[in-house]
Amino acid sequence: MRRGLRLICAVMVCLLLVGCGEEPEKSRTIFAMDTIIELHLWGGNAEPCSDALVSLFQSLEQTWSPTVETSLLARMNRGEEVTLTPEEEALLAQVEALEAETGGAFHPRLLALSQAWGFYSRDYRVPTQQEIADALASRRWDLGAALKGYAGTQAAALLEEMGVDRGILNLGGNVLTFGTKPDGTDWQIAIQDPDGDGYAAVLSVSGTMSVVTSGDYQRYFEMDGVRYHHILDPETGYPADSGLRSVTVICADGLRADALATALFVMGPEAGSAFWREHPDFEAVFLCSDGRILATPGAKLSGCVYEEIGYAQ
Ligand code: ADP
Ligand code: MG
Repeated sequence: MRRGLRLICAVMVCLLLVGCGEEPEKSRTIFAMDTIIELHLWGGNAEPCSDALVSLFQSLEQTWSPTVETSLLARMNRGEEVTLTPEEEALLAQVEALEAETGGAFHPRLLALSQAWGFYSRDYRVPTQQEIADALASRRWDLGAALKGYAGTQAAALLEEMGVDRGILNLGGNVLTFGTKPDGTDWQIAIQDPDGDGYAAVLSVSGTMSVVTSGDYQRYFEMDGVRYHHILDPETGYPADSGLRSVTVICADGLRADALATALFVMGPEAGSAFWREHPDFEAVFLCSDGRILATPGAKLSGCVYEEIGYAQ
């Protein structure tokens, strides 16, 4: 992960978002779930709520990180007997349902494949076909493509429960909005330009909503002049090469938003648009490799030229 760049992005998003006159009651930056998390909360309970959010994210990491040796996920991956809480069972059932719904494009058991490419150790390499086949066969859990989204939805429930007035959370590019901006208008969320530190488009969002981007610029390495990124196509075992630079999904359910952003990236613009026509319970913005921007009709997009994805093909 290029943490420096990620921090710059996070700061850029927040400048866009918070530049609305009123200072947030409580702003805080923490590091958890292998990412920089920014919290901006307004209202009487903002301070205790920010503490509760930090505990929530740390606890999710301790349970679901594949690299924390004592985590539930690591124990499952070692084939140990585990007892799951109803909530943990529900999360695994949801990710399996998302895998089925996306025809396996979102694949929650790719840990060994990501490791074979060196995305965990940062000791990057191109694996052999045999290593790819072995990695795919090992089916070890990795919820990295969905956990931050799930965390966003859990966080929203906490904000609701603790009576926070409004807030915005940025979990390393996964944004959660809660309520409106203090002046009553929509939050303005930048979609990063894949080729720079600026932004390619801006989304207006309000209420409890997750805005999640998966892009080929978020984690990658270059070898012999070829660029390899971290979103893997479970069919080939190689980085997805589907004609996209990024996909942003806007959905009330954060887990769904995160899993779908990854899955639609693997599918590409055409199959991804077809998926949306069949499951129109979310909005999406596709930044294509050829420079086109495609957006579903309900995405409130500005600051760019884009084509609207039609309801009928
Ligand atoms: P990020 O975590 O960088 O925001 P994603 O949500 O797209 O981006 O998740 C990518 C991570 O998920 C990878 O680092 C890897 O751990 C895992 N992964 C890679 N390809 C897939 C896939 N097709 N389905 C599910 N998980 C994946
Ligand atoms: Mg994802």
